[in-house]
Amino acid sequence: MRTNLLKLFVFFLIFLVSLSSLSAACEKPRDRFVVVLDAGHGGKDPGNMGNGFKEKEIALNIILKIGEALEKKEGIEVIYTRDSDVFIPLDKRAKIANDANADLFVSVHCNSHNSQAYGTETFVLGLHKTQENFEVAKKENSVIFLEEDYEVTYGGFNPNSPESYIGMALMQEEYLNQSILLADYVQKNFTNELNRKNRGVKQAGFLVLKNAVMPSVLIETGFLTNDHEGPYLNSNTGQNKMAAAIVAAIEKYANSINLSSLENIGNVSSNNVNSESEIYKDIIFKIQLAAGSKRLETKSYNFKGLQNVERAREDGMYKYYYGETSDYLEINKLHHQAKQNGYPSSYIVAFKDGSKITVNEALKSK
Ligand SMILES: [Zn+2]
Repeated sequence: MRTNLLKLFVFFLIFLVSLSSLSAACEKPRDRFVVVLDAGHGGKDPGNMGNGFKEKEIALNIILKIGEALEKKEGIEVIYTRDSDVFIPLDKRAKIANDANADLFVSVHCNSHNSQAYGTETFVLGLHKTQENFEVAKKENSVIFLEEDYEVTYGGFNPNSPESYIGMALMQEEYLNQSILLADYVQKNFTNELNRKNRGVKQAGFLVLKNAVMPSVLIETGFLTNDHEGPYLNSNTGQNKMAAAIVAAIEKYANSINLSSLENIGNVSSNNVNSESEIYKDIIFKIQLAAGSKRLETKSYNFKGLQNVERAREDGMYKYYYGETSDYLEINKLHHQAKQNGYPSSYIVAFKDGSKITVNEALKSK
């Protein structure tokens, strides 16, 4: 009897200790911006082998160059899903990022096609709008066939079945706007700084992004199958340039997100990137705080101290908006403020000529 009591007491102690370490992990101070860098493929999975080049090697080289540059920036912490030629299952990659409580997940890959297609594209998790985008996701997801127990790990997910992708977009919905913001910076840098062909910011169902609980992008840096782009991506010069463009995009993003806690990051202004504003003329961004059938006075005491809240009647409901600006960086700051004031599930909405459009559409309008 006494030993049982003792056992119980010991279990209780262990429980207390694990509880306190759990809460300590959750309350990690946000004095750093944590980026998880994910080099696609590795080990027994070479990725695509267009023109005889190896995607796994090129992706790793670019990732290591990105990491090396970011590690020099104050306030940024870099974590790699792999920093050598090893095989890491897709679900493990997201888990590494989640366990690190990361602020950003960046996956780097190279494309392939049976034509001479070329150019860069950056994906966020979503429902593919074209067969072409679906094909890219299918190809990248098919690496799970190399994993043992993939049917169990991914709950019967079949990379080739469209049905498997239903509902997947919801997993990253909360981070969609921020993911698109970074994707947009990446693509702009590739195009404006490096003169790469811009195939755009796109959405498709990538398993590696699905379980990450943070803004996440997957960058297709170009086509190894293209006779010009393949050798460029395989060269040290090409890899240095691609890495530098991605580093600048991550820095710009880090400076525009969570501004209150990240004031010390980087010297972005030194590389002539203007991070003061990001104006989308003809677009008005607002924060939707709440919606419901109840008609509230738009006084600050009804909205946790937020001032100048606007009420609109839409679809038979009252909607309450905070802020009004064409500046996407400004609206992100206001969104941050709204969340801090007690609206964690508030989100950004966009209007063009008085009609609501998706933020995705708005960001593509420039
Ligand atoms: Zn790949």
